[in-house]
Amino acid sequence: MVAAEAFPLLKVGGLADVVGALPKALRPLGVEATVLIPWASGIEARRVGEVAFSFAGYEERAALGERVEGGVRFWLLGLPDFARERLYGYPDDVRRFVRFALAARSLAQGFDLLHLHDWPAALLALYGFPTVYTIHNLAHQGLWDPGEFFYWTGLPWSLFHMEALEFYGRVNLMKGGIVFAQRVTTVSPGYAQEIQTPEFGEGLDGVLRRHRHKLRGILNGLDTEYWDPESDPYLPFPYRDWSGKARMEAYLAEALGLRPPVLGVVGRLVFQKGLDLVLEGLPHLLALGYSLAVLGSGEEALEEGFARAMRENPGRVHFQRGHDEALAHRIYAGSHAFLMPSRFEPCGLSQMIAMRYGTPPVARGVGGLKDTVRDGKTGVLFHLAHPEGLLFGLCRLEHLDREALGRAGMAEDFSWEGPARAYLEVYREVCG
Ligand code: ADP
Repeated sequence: MVAAEAFPLLKVGGLADVVGALPKALRPLGVEATVLIPWASGIEARRVGEVAFSFAGYEERAALGERVEGGVRFWLLGLPDFARERLYGYPDDVRRFVRFALAARSLAQGFDLLHLHDWPAALLALYGFPTVYTIHNLAHQGLWDPGEFFYWTGLPWSLFHMEALEFYGRVNLMKGGIVFAQRVTTVSPGYAQEIQTPEFGEGLDGVLRRHRHKLRGILNGLDTEYWDPESDPYLPFPYRDWSGKARMEAYLAEALGLRPPVLGVVGRLVFQKGLDLVLEGLPHLLALGYSLAVLGSGEEALEEGFARAMRENPGRVHFQRGHDEALAHRIYAGSHAFLMPSRFEPCGLSQMIAMRYGTPPVARGVGGLKDTVRDGKTGVLFHLAHPEGLLFGLCRLEHLDREALGRAGMAEDFSWEGPARAYLEVYREVCG
C-alpha cells in the first residue's frame, strides 16, 4: 500500500485512518500488506537501507526506514522534500510526491499487488504493476505542468492525451490513477455513483463514466478497538451503555465552560465540510438554546469566524484550533448531536465515530454520509446546503427520541471486517 499518510505514524485526515486500519483488517484474511509512506519529520523508525531511483535523469537516493505497528510493517521513504513542518500545502507538492512515487517504484518489485491511495501515489499505476487505485477525495487531483512532469519522470510525451494524463493542458495524476489502474475503488457506494455526475465529478465524471466497469464503492470502516467508548483512555468517564454518556455530556460542557446542550464539530475547516453554514446559522442555534464546540483548523476565514464567535458568545461557543486527539474523543462522546453539513463527503469517519459513541449526527445526505447515517434511525439527514437545512435537521432531531437514535448508532457495525473482505475480492479480481 502506497499513500501519503498512515495512522498512527502520520495523519492529516481520514486517509490516514484508512491506510492504518485496512492492513490490520486484511491480516486475518491472509493478506500481508506493507505500508509505504514518506518519512516525514518526527517519525521514529529504524533505518534499514537505501533506495536508488532516477529523477529528471539523475540518480537519487532515499533512506528506507522500517517500523512495525500492530503487526503491520511500515516502510518510510526518507526524502529531503518531506523534512518540513507540514505534509501538504506547498507550491511544489506535486513534485515532492512524484519523487516519492518514483522512489517507491524501486521497492514495488516483489509485491503481488500495489494498492495506491489518492493522487500522491497514483503515478505508480503507470508502470505495469497489478494495481488497485483508491480515490479518497476527488477534489485533490495533483495537477502539474506537463513540461516539468515529463522531464522529471522520463515518461513518454505520448501519454499526454485526453484518454491518459492530459487534463485541460496539464498533467492530472488522479486521472492517471483512474485510467491505468486495473481496479478503481472509492470510499463509499454513494460517492462512487456521485462522482460519475457533473455535480460531484470535479471535471473527471466523464473519465469515471468511461471507466465505470472497474469502479467499486467500498465503505470505510472504523478501528473499533481504538474508537471504543468503553475503553477510550481519553474519556474521563468511559461508558458501555448509552445512559453512561450523560456524564460525558455534563463533563464536556463543564470542561469547556459551555451551557448544555452542546453541539459538536470536529474536522478540517474547509469549504467541503460546509462549516460556513454552521457559522451563518449560529445566531439561530444559540437562540434555540444550543452551545457549540468546534475543534479543527483550516481556512483562515473559518478559523477567524469561529474565533470571533467564541469571543462574542462567552459560555456558548468554544473553538479550539489545531489537532487535539483527546478533545476530539471528548466531543464525539459528550455532544448532544454532531454536526456534519458537508457539501460533499466521500465517506466521512467523524459521523461513524459519533454514532459509535452514541451521539446522533445531523448530517447532509451526500456521499458516505447517506450510506452510513440511517435517517430517523441513527441520526438525521438533511438536504439543503444552507443554514436553514441544518436548522431543519436539528428541529427534526428534537422531534425524535435521541436516546433511541444513540442506542441504535452504538449497535451499528462500523468495523473493518466487511470492507476488508470487499477489498480482498477486488484484489482477487486483479491478481487471481
Ligand atoms: P477527512 O478525511 O475529510 O478529513 P473524515 O471524517 O473522513 O474527514 O476523517 C477525519 C478524521 O480526522 C477523524 O478521525 C477525525 O476525528 C480526525 N480529525 C479531524 N480534525 C481533527 C482535529 N482537529 N483534532 C483531532 N482529530 C481530528
